[in-house]
Amino acid sequence: MILRNIDVQNVAVQQAKQTNVTKEVANQQVQPELKAEDNKKGSLALSSYFRGGQMVHFAGHPCSKSDFKVKKEEGIPCACCGRMMMTNKGVQNFENKAVGAKGEDLQNLLTANMEYFRGTEKAVVNFMLKTSKANPDLTMKGIMTQYSPSAKVLLEDEQKLVLSEVSQKASVLGKDNPVEKCVQKALKDIKHSTDAHHFERKPFLKNLVEVTNTLKDKELAGQILDSAVKLPMSKNSIEAFIVKYGHGTKEDKDIAHRLAQTAISTAEHIHPDTLGGPDHTANYVAECGDCNSKRGHMPLEEWMENFPNMPRSVQRNIDEVTERIINGNLGGRYDDYPLDIQATMNRETGGIIKLEVKNPEEIDKAREERGLPKPTTPQYPNKPQSQPS
Ligand SMILES: [Zn+2]
Repeated sequence: MILRNIDVQNVAVQQAKQTNVTKEVANQQVQPELKAEDNKKGSLALSSYFRGGQMVHFAGHPCSKSDFKVKKEEGIPCACCGRMMMTNKGVQNFENKAVGAKGEDLQNLLTANMEYFRGTEKAVVNFMLKTSKANPDLTMKGIMTQYSPSAKVLLEDEQKLVLSEVSQKASVLGKDNPVEKCVQKALKDIKHSTDAHHFERKPFLKNLVEVTNTLKDKELAGQILDSAVKLPMSKNSIEAFIVKYGHGTKEDKDIAHRLAQTAISTAEHIHPDTLGGPDHTANYVAECGDCNSKRGHMPLEEWMENFPNMPRSVQRNIDEVTERIINGNLGGRYDDYPLDIQATMNRETGGIIKLEVKNPEEIDKAREERGLPKPTTPQYPNKPQSQPS
């Protein structure tokens, strides 16, 4: 079976699966769902916060996530995983080219963008490439639709396996226990699933969390949830991806968007906004959608343990960004950005990440050497301009 081959070959995906699961459980246990008002509090945070009883100030300038210019530059590596990122514009471009593309056009489009795809998305793209060569008349949608029925069989096998593990863990609670009832309902949904209506992971987990909350044995409740979160989803299973995007309602554009989604460049708060980190250039790095969504609100020092290469990734990111600053791509307000990020990273990682950066004078000097003009600096609304001496 072609699907199975790719899934088994892609060991990296399987490993990512495990990491995701562990993280997801950690998030479920440690971080209660954030309420809207918490988020609001974060975004309204001042340009300073308290840490160890000491007020810390950010230089740079206040900036909304959508105005953060760094994420609009093509060719910047993620500050966390170091993989290449796509801008929103780049993603739109990719989507537009994917509409109706088949045969060689589709294969060329996918190959040209290969460096952007991550984990499961990359496995799906490899599957598409292989399938497109054998079926040159199929578009992205055509491939997903054609292989959805066989992917569904494999997906349901995986789901049943996980459900039986849940059932087994709950068996100490006796016959007809509330967890078993959830499992039986899920198995029924799988049995009677159609193209339009099928078993869904999210509502099942939500229900199971409610049920396990009533259990006295909290450790057992945790073990049951640990098993249940292994249910495959489109971000960690090629089969779940194909089933989800093999529906009539999903078009070429939607599939292309989903493939590129994890590579989108986003503004990531270095100090999480929910912990008082401000919406501020000195508190932003450009990070891919994949890393951003996985990190959630985890403090940087803790998050870094997953990425031993992070110091190198941030350095590569800032080097690339500095080039754009020198060339004037970011306007005149980012000359102190590398220096700001150096300070923020040093502070947030307890001195582990020590960046080598250019200060504004060195940036100016590099411009002079290259015969480039100094970008005009717009007036800061919230920060007085320093007077030239
Ligand atoms: Zn990343």
